[in-house]
Amino acid sequence: MHASVTTPLQEIVVLLGQPVAGNPTQYMMEKCFAAAGLDWRYLTVEVGVDLFPDAMRGLRAMGFRGGNLTMPHKVAVLPLLDELSEAARLMGAVNCWKREGDKLIGENTDGKGFLERLREVIDPAGKKVVLLGAGGAARAIAVELGLAEIAHLTVVNRTAARGEALARLVSDEMKIPAEFALWEGDYRAPAGTAIVINGTSIGLHDASARVPLDLGTLEPGTIVADVVFNPPETRLLREARERGCKTIDGLGMLVNQAVIAFRIWTGISPDATIMRDALEEFLSV
Ligand code: NDP
Repeated sequence: MHASVTTPLQEIVVLLGQPVAGNPTQYMMEKCFAAAGLDWRYLTVEVGVDLFPDAMRGLRAMGFRGGNLTMPHKVAVLPLLDELSEAARLMGAVNCWKREGDKLIGENTDGKGFLERLREVIDPAGKKVVLLGAGGAARAIAVELGLAEIAHLTVVNRTAARGEALARLVSDEMKIPAEFALWEGDYRAPAGTAIVINGTSIGLHDASARVPLDLGTLEPGTIVADVVFNPPETRLLREARERGCKTIDGLGMLVNQAVIAFRIWTGISPDATIMRDALEEFLSV
């Protein structure tokens, strides 16, 4: 992709992050800008922790339209923004910001992308959910599940402090019943669990990696979702499907996040099929 020399800064969005060797979101965005007839650009820029505040001030001064952020910038950006969405405030992380007049507004699309995909299969309201993991992706999903008014959340994590903090956030701040379960050996899902989500990085770039979950405890028809998108069919999803569960891969979450961010910046709903095709082309799947 070659940035047009005539593209004004107001029509450029920037991903600030650590080294990114080829970025799927950039690929999806550039395809959709072109398809929508917009002369917009999506740039990726590597910025270290020390200079990150200067980089954000530079983007603000020059009038850039918005951007995405990767860790650890998702948290470091909080004091550099003027306003936060409710979800971003609860998560304590921003992965997407936009300019509105002179203000920079922080959002978080990680969990929203997941929820939009989940809702295509099941309405999570009133459901009992098990969430494996308590890192950035899991936290974003937990907050959106809380906003969607699920009946109960169990956060399962091998590190107690992170898991407990996430369960507390959902129960205390969002008033949704939530508990923490320490992850030791194969986790046994409680009876009545409707949705199980792998929010860990187990399975990333490793189709043989096993999520320690006793699939025998899942009732047929249980929804099993994975945030891992590469490979799209993880071992967890394959084995869950073989046991009669309905599965959701991580590709839809990534596509939906890009769709939501596109809408936030441009005000236009992009063609999700173009996003999905671009992602599959990028990942060669
Ligand atoms: P973090 O590093 O913030 O969190 C990782 C989580 O995985 C922690 O809960 C960690 O547990 C757990 N974990 C890692 N390895 C193991 C293991 N061997 N056994 C048990 N638990 C483990 O990562 P992120 O939340 O940012 O990312 C997680 C995954 O989500 C990645 O694969 C990423 O690619 C994917 N992702 C997908 C997106 C999509 O659109 N599909 C969007 C964002 C992320 P502990 O706390 O004990 O260390």
